[in-house]
Amino acid sequence: MSKNIIAIDGPAASGKGTLARSLAELLGFAHMDTGALYRATALEVHDAGLSAQDENDARDGAQILAKKIAHATRPSDVLDNPALRTDQIGQQASKIAAYPRVREVLNKIQTDFAENPGGGFKGAVLDGRDIGTVITPNAPLKLYITASREVRAKRRLKELQSRGISATYEAVLKDMRERDTRDAERKTAPMKPADDAIVIDSSDLDASQMLEKAVSLAKERLTL
Ligand code: C5P
Repeated sequence: MSKNIIAIDGPAASGKGTLARSLAELLGFAHMDTGALYRATALEVHDAGLSAQDENDARDGAQILAKKIAHATRPSDVLDNPALRTDQIGQQASKIAAYPRVREVLNKIQTDFAENPGGGFKGAVLDGRDIGTVITPNAPLKLYITASREVRAKRRLKELQSRGISATYEAVLKDMRERDTRDAERKTAPMKPADDAIVIDSSDLDASQMLEKAVSLAKERLTL
């Protein structure tokens, strides 16, 4: 496994995605938003007329996605899809993410990417819920990004509004509470910091302060 792997986990709207993207760009690493795999699976399940209530149906959705990714030049060609970004898809994603058979299919895509990010990249940054605990347990740098649920709900509301999607703070907060509980309490690969993860509370930090912290940790722990 490539030594230059950065695992970033944390709940929805904690700032982990923004951090992962800018860190990858700055370091010349490839980036995978692994939440998009679960979101894209939920969309495949829906589009194929399969049932998200049935584990085997959901696994079939994951396999359809895996084939598309295998035929694409880069996973991001399939995953950079604005249709994946709605809260409805986020909820569906967190339901099918509890199925071990879905995770088995999607885990393989993630470990392949971490081992061989391709494209001349010097390493890989993956962000999600179980990167440090399950996908890349040997990553030399693991970050777990948190923020209070209220701060996260405000951020998510702003993001939705900036995309012209109308929502209320109460609805976003409720959605977040449900998703946090489901992700943290599921049996398989629950959302939690790895024992050796560095926990960063992003409530009072802006994106550039987070990036600065992460870059200095990367310089200490990785071969750049
Ligand atoms: O990060 P994002 O909000 O896009 O993730 C959508 C859902 O996918 C999460 O709520 C979670 O249930 C699931 N997920 C997961 N493991 C990951 C990434 C995301 O279970 N590594």
